[in-house]
Amino acid sequence: QTFGQAGFDHLLLGAIKKAGYEQPTAIQAQALPAVLSGRDVLGLAKTGSGKTAAFVLPMLVHIMDQPELNKGEGPIGLVLAPTRELAEQIHKETRKFSKPYGLRAVAAFGGLSKFEQFKELKSGCEIAVATPGRMMDLIRMKACTPQRITYLVLDEADRMFDMGFEQQVRSLLGAVRPDRQTLLFSATLPRRIESLVGEALSNPVRISV
Ligand code: AMP
Repeated sequence: QTFGQAGFDHLLLGAIKKAGYEQPTAIQAQALPAVLSGRDVLGLAKTGSGKTAAFVLPMLVHIMDQPELNKGEGPIGLVLAPTRELAEQIHKETRKFSKPYGLRAVAAFGGLSKFEQFKELKSGCEIAVATPGRMMDLIRMKACTPQRITYLVLDEADRMFDMGFEQQVRSLLGAVRPDRQTLLFSATLPRRIESLVGEALSNPVRISV
């Protein structure tokens, strides 16, 4: 399988080439068609598998297709991750591919100035990559509304729960639109995550690498 077969446009194919990705990894080959078709996806995969690009690349297609792209405010794509380090890494990967489109990707996590993140979100973005606690804080402070979010990624969901973010994840799920597309990645599938999958995803495609 090739990235060209995924149906990406020349801007995205150019950015993929520039990133040095010659062919999709196993998780990408499995996830891309399902995510691009609009299905919810449950991915059992670890860091190092290339799972970030598996959700970032279709996120850009999703956002560029949105009728609300030039209307309204607040992110359209939201990625939640358990730690600052992972959020930073995802943000970096996202920027590689969002840049050619001129889309704005904001990072929001603890350890950075909340005021700076507030200002950045307030001034507008299409993508937010965040830890759950900080994102909830910023939404409560009205840095942005969650109403435009139609592409939601829960990355390393098992670790998010281990870190004590279950409550914030559930609050965020209650705040975003019910007609969203949801992707959940986890290395393990304990009962708590199974039940989250049942609540947050609709008829998901299950992928495991
Ligand atoms: P991840 O599992 O998403 O953290 O990705 C692990 C590493 O693989 C990162 O350094 C990515 O930049 C890289 N990567 C992701 N997809 C590909 C690909 N298709 N070809 C080569 N490297 C990739």
